[in-house]
Amino acid sequence: MDSEKKQEFDQEQRAAFAGQFRRHHRFQIFIVLGGILFYFVHFVVILSAGAYEESWGYGLLVLFGAGLVCWRSAWKHNRCPACDHFFGLRPPTRTQAFCAACGSRLTG
Ligand SMILES: [Zn+2]
Repeated sequence: MDSEKKQEFDQEQRAAFAGQFRRHHRFQIFIVLGGILFYFVHFVVILSAGAYEESWGYGLLVLFGAGLVCWRSAWKHNRCPACDHFFGLRPPTRTQAFCAACGSRLTG
């Protein structure tokens, strides 16, 4: 908790932050859902092709890659603009507008 870093952002800045958080969060969800979807489609395809034994790893690899891309995006973008606090996979939203670390109002 370092309240020295607390900043006052005006409404325009908060709207910009909200848009960025939303966009990156949407990308993170999209990439993971895409990875899961690919995994299942791939699973069904190789199962029906009788190639499960030699090909099951590829679906898992893509799923793992998607998870990695999601986490990398979160690590880079889901941060407080004032104090660089990392929000994990849940960036601030309209209802959760304040940074838990420095108390700056970021959205809403
Ligand atoms: Zn902060």
